[in-house]
Amino acid sequence: MKIRTPFHFDETPLRQSRVGFRGLVSRFGGGREIIRTFAMVFQVFNIMVETNKNLKDFNTFSIDCIAREYAEFKSAEDFDMVQELYARRGGLRILGGGSNTVFTEEVFDGCVLRVCNRGIEVLEENEDFVVLRVAAGEVWREFVRWCCEKMYCGLENLAAIYGTVGATPVQNIGAYGVQVADYIERVECFNMATGEMRSVNARDCEFDYRYSRWKKGNGNELIYSVVFRLRKHFVPQTGYAAVARMLEGKEVKDLTPLAMCDMITNLRNSKLPDVTVLGNAGSFFKNPTVSEEVFERLKAEDENLVSFKENKGVKLSAAYLIERCGFKGKRFGNVGMHAKQALVLVNYGGATGKEIVAFAKQVIETVYDKYGVRLEIEAHIV
Ligand SMILES: Cc1cc2nc3c(=O)[nH]c(=O)nc-3n(C[C@H](O)[C@H](O)[C@H](O)COP(=O)(O)OP(=O)(O)OC[C@H]3O[C@@H](n4cnc5c(N)ncnc54)[C@H](O)[C@@H]3O)c2cc1C
Repeated sequence: MKIRTPFHFDETPLRQSRVGFRGLVSRFGGGREIIRTFAMVFQVFNIMVETNKNLKDFNTFSIDCIAREYAEFKSAEDFDMVQELYARRGGLRILGGGSNTVFTEEVFDGCVLRVCNRGIEVLEENEDFVVLRVAAGEVWREFVRWCCEKMYCGLENLAAIYGTVGATPVQNIGAYGVQVADYIERVECFNMATGEMRSVNARDCEFDYRYSRWKKGNGNELIYSVVFRLRKHFVPQTGYAAVARMLEGKEVKDLTPLAMCDMITNLRNSKLPDVTVLGNAGSFFKNPTVSEEVFERLKAEDENLVSFKENKGVKLSAAYLIERCGFKGKRFGNVGMHAKQALVLVNYGGATGKEIVAFAKQVIETVYDKYGVRLEIEAHIV
């Protein structure tokens, strides 16, 4: 059953039936003709390449950055053009919702490809679960809410996270004790360099804390859809302390996925700055993991140290370390760490990507000097 079908998931016949970009150019002739033909060919494939596009509205930090070239991937019909653009520019910079990206240059001297394909398809459904294929360009927060309305369960604690569906496996988004990897069955990608389609099973995605194979990759793979397996019986995930506190005094058996989605949304809104008011990318740093030995040393120095035991060691709260270094709520020029959440680096207005990165380095160095623990930036620096 198809719910919405603007997105062609069966790309093979489409790819075989079309003449490639180079083929079309050669048919239209060479020399000056080719130059005139380019604009037309772009329209034939339904993909427009804009030049000198300001990306300010396409990143939640609201950083001014001009992309030399900008195009949108809207459907499987665009694959040939994407490959062609990739070859011509020697690479493409993929952008989803820009909620985890920091542009550091005033001019990005390359081509940005924004992922805008849409559509949700039910692949399998029975009494217990549903398997959904979701186009990468779908808006994550809208998709989660839609699932909650349909009683497709599991993603409630990930409600209201910014960005697109296609970016969620990239850093294995997580919040309130849930990570998206737990619900991903496979990720469907297009290799822009080779034109190869690949379906990567969850076990091969190398999911870890804010990590996947796409974090270390060379940026060649365009994720065009993600397949999720969701339960149809609702079991609220209440293990995380903030969620447990939120539910105090409430009858958990009366909860619905939608009510949970709304509560998580309110919880987030009460703690995180609104990106339309104060540009930010959520948590700017990862929580660092240290060995038991290092943890014992730090704990001896600071008994209030916030930590979580893990299989691989002990995870420390980066927010706590940053706060203890005096950055919480402090403004430095156009940037600073948010007053309610020390992990969120904010743009007070007019900050450049360079200012943001320079300030982040200052935070890293200060925390390192005080604790001997090096924080790692979570956001993607471009
Ligand atoms: C206020 C706020 C709160 C946040 N809270 C959380 C949170 O609780 N947990 C959490 O994990 N994150 C959080 N984030 C970070 C962010 O929302 C997520 O990382 C989100 O998944 C990024 O999606 P995006 O589409 O905006 O990605 P972008 O910033 O556009 O891209 C991020 C990276 O993924 C790559 N990418 C994007 N789409 C694709 C694709 N289709 N194929 C291949 N590569 C792709 C890009 O090239 C880039 O390297 C928060 C951000 C904000 C602003």
